[in-house]
Amino acid sequence: MAEIEEVVIHKSMRLHTLEELPFDNSYARLPDAFYAKLSPTPFSDPPYLVSFNSAAAALIDLDPEEAKRPEFAGVFGGSLLVPGMEPLAMLYSGHQFGVYVPQLGDGRAILLGEVRNERGERWDLQLKGAGLTPFSRDGDGRAVLRSTIREYLCSEAMHGLGIPTSRTLCIVGSDHQVYREQVETGAIVLRMAPSHIRFGTFEVFYYRKQHEQLKVLADYVIAHHYPHLIDAVDKYARFFDELVERTAKLIAQWQAVGWAHGVMNTDNMSILGITLDYGPFGFMDDYDPGFICNHSDHNGRYAFNQQPYIGLWNLSCLAQALLPLVTKEELKAALDCYTPLHQTRYSELMRLKLGLEDAQPEDESLVNDLLALMCQSQADYTNVFRALGDFQSLQGAQNEGIRDFFVDRGTFEKWAARYSNRLRKHRSSDADRRERMNRINPKYVLRNYLAQIAIEKAQEKEFSKIDRLLALLQNPYSEQPGMNDYAAPPPNWGKQLAVSCSS
Ligand code: AMP
Ligand code: MG
Repeated sequence: MAEIEEVVIHKSMRLHTLEELPFDNSYARLPDAFYAKLSPTPFSDPPYLVSFNSAAAALIDLDPEEAKRPEFAGVFGGSLLVPGMEPLAMLYSGHQFGVYVPQLGDGRAILLGEVRNERGERWDLQLKGAGLTPFSRDGDGRAVLRSTIREYLCSEAMHGLGIPTSRTLCIVGSDHQVYREQVETGAIVLRMAPSHIRFGTFEVFYYRKQHEQLKVLADYVIAHHYPHLIDAVDKYARFFDELVERTAKLIAQWQAVGWAHGVMNTDNMSILGITLDYGPFGFMDDYDPGFICNHSDHNGRYAFNQQPYIGLWNLSCLAQALLPLVTKEELKAALDCYTPLHQTRYSELMRLKLGLEDAQPEDESLVNDLLALMCQSQADYTNVFRALGDFQSLQGAQNEGIRDFFVDRGTFEKWAARYSNRLRKHRSSDADRRERMNRINPKYVLRNYLAQIAIEKAQEKEFSKIDRLLALLQNPYSEQPGMNDYAAPPPNWGKQLAVSCSS
């Protein structure tokens, strides 16, 4: 039945040209205090298309053929507007590295408008790197090719992994020079999300004591993104309850794939509970619970294993900002649910990564002892879990391929014996388990060095590596013929690549 319906929808669907995109810009209808209306600033040099993602185009019913028109790079390179766009930069503030900054806002992002697709979904189209805005502070309003490629590939990789995230439609480049540690070329990534509202959007109105605007914002968020709560008497409290749950589960998903966000400031936290603002993020290669992917994060505030606590800390900041709308008791009760929700989801995901469908008391130590072994051996996080799909539970099986990841073979063998016992209690066959495990343990993730290779080629104007990586990462759980090299751990040069906020 589901299949038939899908075909009908597909047949009746009309794909749009750029000029036909149906915009309905609800954010632009909010009070002036919420944004600054302004147009993108064109590059000093002509824009050209670097990469196009047809999967994201499908979300707004945009005809993929449109990417071949020269106007495409104009529109998504910030030099051309099409009817219906009402560009604006959103206002917000936020806690950066624990310190409240009273005004941040889109310093280099410009919301072009919201497209409604045939399914009734609303997608923000946002340019990142489109020039100065009133919120640019000391920045130049630009993004560089390097950072746009990272955001483009990683958001699609996260989507491929099944993790809620913003999406990306395309990258438009230009020879326009941008000054960072060295001269680089500018680029713009077109980012899409049902909303770009952040925890910091609430914080700015709270700290400015503009409580009437805070209520307008909360009503807008509920009407557009939590519509099932519209008629609830305690709708603001329930919105926060749901966001606590979404955030707790999101962070568990990040951990399960070995991913760190890198800059979990409250202005980078989505009110939809999706992954937002890709900067100095990283997938771990060797397992290291204290992994710090952001080289500007000297104290490890946003280290891999700190993320669950920071998620709660950030939600507490949002709770503070909601005090004019929700009682302290209700907010506290919601926050109290965070840790159990996170732990339950994390344990469940890790258990599934070991191929265990039902929960047993011994599972937690089985997971933790494996992680401890991986840490001791600096074993590759992604590859160990993927290899465990091939684990043979038969008594006496050697499992050499997996044992070779570990330095201390004796300890691994003891762990393997416990794992075998645990698996034999389970009724499914090794083959069934392998199939299940391969659907949760990815073969391919966006390792820093893979992104770096694509970036260096792109800087020489060779863009095909980006497209190849995009296609690979959109299907991270499937074996892809001829692509084994992309599952390899980093070569020496790729182990300690520095990525930081300034990009
Ligand atoms: P981020 O660390 O990327 O989340 O950025 C934090 C704040 O700095 C946001 O308000 C950004 O819009 C702003 N920002 C970052 N980079 C730039 C830039 N190159 N030009 C202007 N504003 C920027
Ligand atoms: Mg940000």
